[in-house]
Amino acid sequence: MPARRAHAAVEGAPDLFADFEGTPPEAGRLFVDLSVPRQEAKSCTRCPLYKDATQTVFGEGPEDAAIMLVGEQPGDQEDLHGRPFVGPAGQVLDRAMAAAGMERDKVYVTNAVKHFKFDRRGKKRIHQRPTNSEVDICRWWLDIERRVVRSRVIVALGTTAIRGITGRSSSVTSLRGKAASLPDGTRMVATVHPSYLLRMPDRMAAEAEFSRFVADLKLALKAAG
Ligand code: SF4
Repeated sequence: MPARRAHAAVEGAPDLFADFEGTPPEAGRLFVDLSVPRQEAKSCTRCPLYKDATQTVFGEGPEDAAIMLVGEQPGDQEDLHGRPFVGPAGQVLDRAMAAAGMERDKVYVTNAVKHFKFDRRGKKRIHQRPTNSEVDICRWWLDIERRVVRSRVIVALGTTAIRGITGRSSSVTSLRGKAASLPDGTRMVATVHPSYLLRMPDRMAAEAEFSRFVADLKLALKAAG
């Protein structure tokens, strides 16, 4: 197991969040691992999203991972299986990780929001984007995951993930292509959510965007050392 990292500003990294106050104090409970929070999150009722979802989808992966990937929220398949990134977007992510040389079983994978938010239309459950308020409330769990895993690099997959990590609303475009330094010393690489690639109608544009996505994952690998 690698030594725990000291939390300090990273010299030379863009400091985009210098005035961000960090994680909320209520998430300050100390845990040696994620077994207790994982169990507690199963009965979380902090926001209304637990009511319609099948189950809480907590993060998974090594609890000393150098890299943490944060998505938006579980999708339909994730909600049913209780695991993050096992649906179509997860398959895109797996393909991109393989292309970047990033091993999934060495990365901690989670979401900014732990319950599936959807609109039911007939038999279909249509994804709905979580509100800023829902993201901010669910940060309780993401902060705990971050405090335990203490990854060197955190990859924000889309704007909801950026909000969950930083507490701010920023576009991917404004942050992409650099490993920003967060106040706790973690480097953050922002990129698109893999579901964005699935929704692109133009195949050539989607392939070009996939290549950018892979480049972002390579940047995360490089920043993690
Ligand atoms: S979405 Fe997050 S905060 Fe809301 S009930 Fe689920 S685990 Fe709790």
